[in-house]
Amino acid sequence: MKDIKIGNAKNQPGKITYGFIDGLELPTGIIEKIPVIIAQGLEDGPTFFLTANVHGFELTGVAVIHELITDQLVQDLKGTIIAIPTLNPSAFRKYHHKAEYDDRDPNRLFPEGKFAEKEDKDEDKEYPKLYEHITNKIYSYFEKYADFHIDFHNHSLLSIPYAILDRLFYEDESEKEEANLLLERQKEMVDSFGMLVCAEFPAKKYLKMKLHRSVSGSTFNSLRIPAFTAELGENRFLVPEVITGSVKGTRNVLKWAGMLKGPIEQITEFPVPKPEFRVRRFDHPRVNRSGILRFIVKPGDFVTKGQPIAKFTDILGRPLNDGYIRTEYDGVMVSLQTQMTVYPNDAIAEMGVRDEFPLLTPIPSK
Ligand SMILES: [Zn+2]
Repeated sequence: MKDIKIGNAKNQPGKITYGFIDGLELPTGIIEKIPVIIAQGLEDGPTFFLTANVHGFELTGVAVIHELITDQLVQDLKGTIIAIPTLNPSAFRKYHHKAEYDDRDPNRLFPEGKFAEKEDKDEDKEYPKLYEHITNKIYSYFEKYADFHIDFHNHSLLSIPYAILDRLFYEDESEKEEANLLLERQKEMVDSFGMLVCAEFPAKKYLKMKLHRSVSGSTFNSLRIPAFTAELGENRFLVPEVITGSVKGTRNVLKWAGMLKGPIEQITEFPVPKPEFRVRRFDHPRVNRSGILRFIVKPGDFVTKGQPIAKFTDILGRPLNDGYIRTEYDGVMVSLQTQMTVYPNDAIAEMGVRDEFPLLTPIPSK
């Protein structure tokens, strides 16, 4: 059996063991500790990382890890699950997006890995700061042990659960074949989750948004380990059906990885849209002026080009434009804006629209 030591947690075949990683020493004399669970079966197999709550008010993943890891699971398990129920305890305690001591998006602070030389030299980079001390440690454990990885998030208060298929970058032609094989495994893995799959933003925007430095983006793109982000619907509160469906989805991926036996479990707890084509995340539609918004579609609905998505009025209730905001694309409504007030050029939703961009792209040179 694989020997694993993470923080003060150590594997024990056939057992669940618990511990903490010393994340960051705080100036007030305490250490930010990152909790870790190691669940190891009696039979050898892959090592699967499950991480959650890098954004402190995205709660479902914490519950999914708590529900999934049981004594029974360990009896059935081939290999090891390493679960980190919160990657960001400071943000979790405050129910904030970010850590109290770092104002940057924690899901853009994982190491640059493969992309480091492609960016401008910057002497500050030699000095990781604040939350980066934690991400560097976690990344080193991925590097040492991970065969697969899922990072759990929640998109917004008005969203459906879905899985994100990241773009994959390669450096030169010699890497292309291997990258293709990795991408095929990745696609299979994300599909096995059993929810809607949305490809990430196209390559240019992907890099601009620093998604290669997200938790799963860095595992996938820099460490070349199959890894994806699962967006588990509503943030800020727990929906029991979403937890149950997400535990099923996770077990399905463990089955795909050969770590559990048994049939694939259909997710019936919430609607799973099944588009006929690959979709990508897209911020759409946008409004051309300020106004008041009222949606007439729900997350998960299929829509067609020209269909009204929301009523659009001024504050007195009088119609703006023709009284509606319409979609210019066929697709799935993934997440709806939660505010009633909108400003010019605001995107009011995120849709899954037909993905015509390649999943595999060379890293652009400067
Ligand atoms: Zn998130």
